[in-house]
Amino acid sequence: MPFRDVVGHGPLLQLIAQAVSRDTLPPSLGFVGPDGVGKQLAATALAQVLNCLSLVEIRPFVVDACGECDSCKKIVRGSFSDLLLVETIENKPITIDQIRQVVQQVAYRPFEGRRRVVVINDADRMNTEAQSSLLKTLEEPPDSSQFVLVTSRPDLLLLTVRSRIQQLNFVHLSADEVFQVVRELGVETADAQLLAAAGGSAGRAVALASGELVVARDAAVRLMEQVAIARDGRARLVAAQEFVGAKKKGQDLRQELIQRLRVMPSLLRDVAVLWTGSTSQALVNVDLVDNLAPLSAVYGGSRGVKAFDSVGRALDALERHVNPKVVADWLACRL
Ligand SMILES: [Zn+2]
Repeated sequence: MPFRDVVGHGPLLQLIAQAVSRDTLPPSLGFVGPDGVGKQLAATALAQVLNCLSLVEIRPFVVDACGECDSCKKIVRGSFSDLLLVETIENKPITIDQIRQVVQQVAYRPFEGRRRVVVINDADRMNTEAQSSLLKTLEEPPDSSQFVLVTSRPDLLLLTVRSRIQQLNFVHLSADEVFQVVRELGVETADAQLLAAAGGSAGRAVALASGELVVARDAAVRLMEQVAIARDGRARLVAAQEFVGAKKKGQDLRQELIQRLRVMPSLLRDVAVLWTGSTSQALVNVDLVDNLAPLSAVYGGSRGVKAFDSVGRALDALERHVNPKVVADWLACRL
């Protein structure tokens, strides 16, 4: 999708378009900002404008992709040989092998386009070796190549990586912009409460509207509530059992549990925010404030920090295919 079709981030995208038209775009960029606000779409738009066969000028963009030519269409379909996409596979860290492959490819001239674009999604998921192996290329990228590191957690990138990329900051979308994206996707239930809970992330709004995220959040909050009042180990194990849920037909218990665990850091973060006495406006899960406020007394301090760590370790264990029930029991005893 061309720049003009990306919702939000107008001034930032106009700057990028301007730099493209003047050929002054830094060759190593970081698209940094919250999840679900359109960073990856912007990276696709950039790949298009760098390779479009029939560029257009459509206000307010001094240059934009046509969206119709062969290159534009291939880029959207993911079949453009000069757009290299690196991302996590099965949620595992991005490895040095994955990075070496693209580093080798950018040494050659583009096959069919003007500019070879390398997009590294969730760049913070590169392990240390992978990040180190990228340093030299980011420092002196081959001519006719463009790197875009997409991340919501730039603090997890090595300082040496961060110092080599020009960081462009994407911000939360306004409620109107989230509404626009959600409606364009044909989601019917874009009500005010959902938009508030989405906290400026269109991706999150869509997940909430689909109901999956709601179920995951409710299960996670319930686990925290039950563990907070548990008097003994047995009560914790009962809570764990409920957290995993009963296996329904065709349902992958492991994936379900991963989803439930993935929402916990944002809940723990909100609890920590409430603990510091900030207003509920700063919350991601603002619609759950009545549940989260009582939990801040329990998980606000060092216990919350330990809980963050435990949730991360539980996710690691699930990725290494430890039995979901064992993981849930372990977590309920650690929270
Ligand atoms: Zn085009």
